[in-house]
Amino acid sequence: MADREYGFRTRAIHAGNIPDAVTGARALPIYQTTAFVFDDTSDAAARFALQKYGNIYSRLGNPTVASFEERIASLEGGLGAVATASGLSAQFITFASLAGAGDHIVASANLYGGSITQLDVTLRRFGVETTFVQGSDPADYAAAITDKTKLLFAEIIANPSGEIADLEGLADVAHAHNIPLIIDSTIATPYLNRPIEWGADVVIHSATKFLGGHGTTLGGVVVESGRFHWANEHFPLFDQPVPSYGGLNWHGNFGEYAFLTRLRAEQLRDIGPALSPHSAWLLAQGVETLPFRLQAHVDNTRIVAEWLQNDPRIEFVNWAGLTGHPHHDRALKYLPKGPGAVFSFGVRADGTRSGREIGQKFIESVNLASHLANIGDAKTLVIHPASTTHAQLNEQQLVDAGVLPGLVRISVGIEDPEDIVYDLDQALTRATEGK
Ligand SMILES: *Cc1c(COP(=O)(O)O)cnc(C)c1O
Repeated sequence: MADREYGFRTRAIHAGNIPDAVTGARALPIYQTTAFVFDDTSDAAARFALQKYGNIYSRLGNPTVASFEERIASLEGGLGAVATASGLSAQFITFASLAGAGDHIVASANLYGGSITQLDVTLRRFGVETTFVQGSDPADYAAAITDKTKLLFAEIIANPSGEIADLEGLADVAHAHNIPLIIDSTIATPYLNRPIEWGADVVIHSATKFLGGHGTTLGGVVVESGRFHWANEHFPLFDQPVPSYGGLNWHGNFGEYAFLTRLRAEQLRDIGPALSPHSAWLLAQGVETLPFRLQAHVDNTRIVAEWLQNDPRIEFVNWAGLTGHPHHDRALKYLPKGPGAVFSFGVRADGTRSGREIGQKFIESVNLASHLANIGDAKTLVIHPASTTHAQLNEQQLVDAGVLPGLVRISVGIEDPEDIVYDLDQALTRATEGK
């Protein structure tokens, strides 16, 4: 892009999108095709052997998907990106590329419920052990690292506890052990924080949420900084002949692109969670307005969180944008525009009913807000995590993930903030008066 480093808003619209060379179409074309014609047999062989860049088959790459990948890499300040069918598959191919049977992962206990079960159930069954660290003190992460540990994993803004990761502290711990820091930045998006600028090596998104932004499309994306030296003692596979590719060497042949190339040419090849071109198009469309939507999301969130905090029916509000939140200073440092639009709060128990009962009644009483299992929609969404998104966790895991029984999670939308407050107020009234 030209002789000027474009700003965030410009890149949200233009990165990865140039007018179509053949037709002149200005909007991103949807290349709804499974495969791509080769010039001749030697061209086909060279593409398959990764000796020549070019499209082969849409499980491995597709021009519409590539446009979305380039846009997110640009916004995150990364070297490149690989998009996938969902956020969880983005995590899975990343973990699968770095850890195998006998290896170990150190992860925050404050994760999205599906991320906890992915690590705790499926990866454990494949022989990859995870230690979940409670709280956010980097020293506790350091203490959990063994000689088998391949990576540190945390969410920048934890869903739903609202804890903020100490990015610089975690990066220092990871790099002192020559392992990468991998950050799930789903709730922040590159508009609120770019983890690579604070030392993260890999950034993962559920694009399903704020990147797409309209609750229409599942997708995920892995972005890499290009700075981590993968060919170190922990990752011998990056520096050994690759039999399935004629003995080439990921690090030797692809240098700083080793991780991303392997993610695509090996993990997408073998595991297969490709993002569909149509989904990539919807997500790329959403990203064009990301800066405006996210600003409206955090502005509305401040209004809603402050209103809740001042309401006597509310016991606590876990939004790090409020003074008094234990991570308020960290939020100001890492997320100065605001610590996201997803937070949780607790409804106060009264003499006769538990917080859990009132919380559930509250959720059944909202009108404008939607009761469903998603975040990051333009619409305001609410849910009761303990009985839904985190229901597969045991009691201890619930406590570790900061999910109390009466907790309500809200993803504040971009409607008129007065209307959101009105709806929450009437639902609280109905819930607390037992009507
Ligand atoms: C939703 C979510 C995921 C999983 O993403 P999917 O697109 O649903 O697979 C991972 N991490 C966080 C923080 C999420 O909110």
